Amino acid sequence: MATQADDKGRFGQFGGQYIPETLMNAIIELDEAYTRYKDDPQFNSELETLFREYANRPSRLYYAAKMTEDLGGAKIYFKREDLNFTGAHKINNVLGQALLAKKMGKTRLIAETGAGQHGVATATAAAYFGMECVIFMGKVDCERQALNVYKMNLLGAKVVPVTSGTATLKDAVSEAFREWTNRIEDTHYCLGSVMGPHPFPTIVRDFQSVISRESRAQILEKEGRLPDAVLACVGGGSNAIGSFYHYIDDPGVQLIGCEAAGRGIDTYETAATISTGRIGIFHGMKSLFCQNEYGQIAPVYSISAGLDYPGVGPEHAHLYDIGRAQYVPVTDAEAVEAFEYTSKTEGIIPAIESSHAIAHAMKIAPKMDKDQILVVTVSGRGDKDCASVARYRGLEIAQ
Ligand SMILES: *Cc1c(COP(=O)(O)O)cnc(C)c1O
Repeated sequence: MATQADDKGRFGQFGGQYIPETLMNAIIELDEAYTRYKDDPQFNSELETLFREYANRPSRLYYAAKMTEDLGGAKIYFKREDLNFTGAHKINNVLGQALLAKKMGKTRLIAETGAGQHGVATATAAAYFGMECVIFMGKVDCERQALNVYKMNLLGAKVVPVTSGTATLKDAVSEAFREWTNRIEDTHYCLGSVMGPHPFPTIVRDFQSVISRESRAQILEKEGRLPDAVLACVGGGSNAIGSFYHYIDDPGVQLIGCEAAGRGIDTYETAATISTGRIGIFHGMKSLFCQNEYGQIAPVYSISAGLDYPGVGPEHAHLYDIGRAQYVPVTDAEAVEAFEYTSKTEGIIPAIESSHAIAHAMKIAPKMDKDQILVVTVSGRGDKDCASVARYRGLEIAQ
C-alpha cells in the first residue's frame, strides 16, 4: 500500500543509497535484519508492549473545542504525540530501532542530535535496553542546549561535541556516519528522521506510522469518517510521514506538511527545503536540499531547532513530486503566535516545531465548513521552547 521504496531504495527519483563502499556492509546487514523482523509477530508484539507500557501509547486524539469555536470553521483535532514518554514522537522510532539493534546482537547505539531531543530519546532507549550509547552533537548545539547534554549524561550516554563544518546538526550526522563506518560489529546507528540512505527512510517511517494507524482508527470512532486534511510539521519529516502514512491511499484526505520558513522564504534565514531547495545528494540520499548558487549545502535557520535541517526525507520529496502532499512555509512569527494562542485557548503548550503545523491550521480552518475536519499532529510538548519564545518576545528568563 501507499508509497514504498523500490528495490533500489528509491521513492520515484528520490532516495537511494549514496554511500561509501565502507558503509555498504553495515547497510546490507541492517536491510536484511529489518526485512526479517518487520513482519515478525514476536518482534511486533514486543514493540507494541514497549509502546504501551513504556512510551504511553496510544496517544490521544484530542478535540480542540475552544480553538474550533474561536476560529469558526473546520473541527480541529490534535494527535497528541506530546503526551508520549520523553515528550515527543521521537521515542516511537528510537524504541523500534533499539529493539531491532538488540535483535541484531548490537550492544552499542550511536546517534546524531541537533537540539538534543533525538539524543535524549536514544539515550533513554539505551538505558532501558542496557546498551552503551554515544551521541554526536555539534559543539554550537552543545552550548545552546546544555540541559539536554546533562540529561544524556545522566542517562549514561557519552556526548561527543562535533567541531567540523558549522558545528551543528548536519555535521553531527556526518560524524555519526563516520563513526559507524569505523565500528559496525557492535554498533547500530539510530538515525533520527526519515532521511539518509535506504533502508533508513523506510525503517523510521514504519516505526512512526503508528501515529496515523492510531489517528485513523480514532477519528473513525469519534466522527465516523476520515478527516479532510492531516497537518504536521516537517524537519527531516518523520512525524509528518508517520502522520500521513495510513492516509496516503485515501485521496479525499489532503496531506499538508508545514516547513519552517524562519524569517521568510525570500530571505536566506529559512529552513523551508521544499519551498526553496533543489535536487541534490547529501547524507546518502537524493532529495531536495537548501543549497547555495554553487550547489553547496546552505546554512539554514529557524526559531525551532528541530526543524533546521537543510534537507527533507526522500518520501516527502516524492509525495510533493507526484502532487499527493503539499508543503507550505510557516514563519517564526506565525509559529510563535500559534504557540501562544494554543497555550491560552486550549491550555496546551505545543513544541515550537508543532506550532508550525498549528499555525497553518489556524489559517485554513476559518475558511472551511463546520462539518469539515482537520487532524493536526502535535509532535511534542513546548516546555523546552519557553525560554527561546520568551527571548523572541524580548524577555530573558533564567533556565
Ligand atoms: C525533532 C522534532 C521535529 C522534527 O523532526 P521530524 O523528523 O521532521 O519529525 C518535530 N517536532 C518535534 C517536537 C521534534 O522534537
